[in-house]
Amino acid sequence: MVTVLNTLGEGERPAPRPRHPEKAHRPDTPLLRKPAWIRVKAPGSAIYAETKKIVREHGLVTVCEEAGCPNIGECWTEKHATMMIMGDTCTRACSFCNVRTGRPDPLDMSEPENVASAVEKLGLRHVVITSVDRDDLDDGGALHFANVIRAIRARTPDTTIEILTPDFLRKDGALEIVVEAKPDVFNHNLETVPRLYLSIRPGGRYFHSLRLLERVKELDPTIFTKSGIMVGLGEVRDEIMQVMDDMRTANIDFLTIGQYLQPTRKHAALERYVTPDEFKGFETTARSKGFLMVSATPLTRSSYHADADFAALRAARESQLAQG
Ligand code: SF4
Repeated sequence: MVTVLNTLGEGERPAPRPRHPEKAHRPDTPLLRKPAWIRVKAPGSAIYAETKKIVREHGLVTVCEEAGCPNIGECWTEKHATMMIMGDTCTRACSFCNVRTGRPDPLDMSEPENVASAVEKLGLRHVVITSVDRDDLDDGGALHFANVIRAIRARTPDTTIEILTPDFLRKDGALEIVVEAKPDVFNHNLETVPRLYLSIRPGGRYFHSLRLLERVKELDPTIFTKSGIMVGLGEVRDEIMQVMDDMRTANIDFLTIGQYLQPTRKHAALERYVTPDEFKGFETTARSKGFLMVSATPLTRSSYHADADFAALRAARESQLAQG
């Protein structure tokens, strides 16, 4: 069996296991050469090292590392790490994603306090919490999400909280449990256009995800909603326009669009690099469709610049309300 590339933590973690055994049988796809606008500096600042130390001391899993995010050098230098709760192993196997697939460990009940303590040590004004999919749990991990939100609120009440959740598909009542805990921003990514769901996000359902976001607004209109897609997977412009319209119909406030980067040769093939000018065009169009906030650049990720973007999001809502 082919062992799929494991890029994580040599010497810092137990012996590497194949991260994607379910993808091992897939044919290799060619890797396209990165254009200049995708290249980033290697991490290495003192603050980066300090952030890493806090992450390790608390035994935290971050999506920054698990997803092999290109922005890690910049974000961790700002002490901005996106924590991934409920373990490092996902019950789904999306073809774009570098997070490990398999049978997850039981939940760690000390995690909410542990995450809250790390947020305090990092001195975060705004924190992004995400998770793996936990289809094995009756509530999909909704109560655990709520407990993490409450633990952070109790310890650092001024920290604003953004969550990036799974879709809780077929988990009745799960969404309500999370909304009840009142995150400031509820993010759930649509990831791609509906035509590509079967190959890119086979475990998800496009209209379920849209409805989930719409429902958050219905349950609590004070919570900001946010969603994003990747481009470069073979979608066409009209499909992206349709996704924008669908999102606005679901009252989503904040749209993110970023370039898909192929983690390994076994992942979904990258069709093309979208140019910075095309991203600018997406941003202009999205703003004209009424989103409160739009971030559309090659390196945009859900949590990239989330701190500054949250401030801008809040200001945009206030200005909108002032205009009646
Ligand atoms: S963009 Fe998000 S996932 Fe990537 S390094 Fe920054 S905080 Fe982490």
